[in-house]
Amino acid sequence: MTHAPLIDPFARPITYLRVSVTDRCDFRCTYCMAEHMQFLPKKDLLSLEELDRLCSAFIGLGVRKLRITGGEPLVRRDILTFFRAVSRHLDTGALDELTLTTNGSQLSRFAADLAALGMRRINVSLDTLDPAKFEAITRWGKLAPVLEGIAAAKAAGMRVKINTVALKGFNEGELFRLVDWCGAEGHDLTFIEVMPMGEMGEELRLDQYWPLSDLRARLAERFTLHDLPDSTGGPARYVRLGESGQRIGFITPLTHNFCESCNRVRVTCTGELFMCLGQEDRADLRAPLRASPEDDALIAAIRGAIARKPKGHDFDYARAPGGSAIRGQMSRHMSHTGG
Ligand code: SAM
Ligand code: SF4
Repeated sequence: MTHAPLIDPFARPITYLRVSVTDRCDFRCTYCMAEHMQFLPKKDLLSLEELDRLCSAFIGLGVRKLRITGGEPLVRRDILTFFRAVSRHLDTGALDELTLTTNGSQLSRFAADLAALGMRRINVSLDTLDPAKFEAITRWGKLAPVLEGIAAAKAAGMRVKINTVALKGFNEGELFRLVDWCGAEGHDLTFIEVMPMGEMGEELRLDQYWPLSDLRARLAERFTLHDLPDSTGGPARYVRLGESGQRIGFITPLTHNFCESCNRVRVTCTGELFMCLGQEDRADLRAPLRASPEDDALIAAIRGAIARKPKGHDFDYARAPGGSAIRGQMSRHMSHTGG
């Protein structure tokens, strides 16, 4: 590494970068997007070359793990060109892990190529195994291609982690079916508590809110849960199921404070660097990227932003006045910052 590593004001080294490569998606999951979304003009998006320069700059500053997300990353045209370019950092050893969060719809086309360039693990979002419910929650999606994509990733030798948003009244009844299916297929499974993102109306949000403390208690009715020590520095907590040996994760941004060990930052598809998922403060990296072919201004902007990384975030339903309004609700959609 040619530059001093990134350390924030709370002595947390920044080693994990999530990058959204598009705001577009072929699904319209009800908790993530409105049905009719206004997408960004192409000129506002970072080009694939700019995305590569940006990721490479972070890797030069000590980022060891890179997760590509969106929108749906696999709908971006020529995205494999970008994956090929950044995978050179796996070959040199500068990067430990290159990974992807996807809805799986295009995965059967990409799985073998991604595995061949060194991707070892992949996260696929899947909230239900019921085809009709899948169509309802994603509005535009179909279950079968997603299951084919997951099978293709497994066949290509990648470890698959399924991400399931816990939604009250929607997939409550499928808890054990999802756990059993993941167990049989050999996939890890992580449940995500629904977050107050976007402007889809607080009625919907609060209606769908299924606390993972409740989900966990239901899991414990059938399985013995053994807590696993945290190794990711992220919001996930893991348990091992005594009976099946499966690992189950819980991402509870609303009810647990995971900020102390936060090692990550996010960049949107327009080059905005968010230092914390729960705070609005950001830094524009697109201007320094476009101002010069040299990376000096870009690196200075990254360092300046990391020096402002806040201690923690501020989502909390419970603290909302009267229990109705959502304090700390973020105005941007998850598809913009990239989950
Ligand atoms: N399109 C890809 C996908 O669905 O995996 C990547 C982007 S998506 C925004 C990343 C993750 O965020 C998905 O697992 C999705 O379920 C989750 N997500 C989206 N909106 C959410 C919300 N309001 N609360 C919690 N998780 C959400
Ligand atoms: Fe698209 Fe992923 Fe958002 Fe669903 S969660 S609408 S698949 S970006």
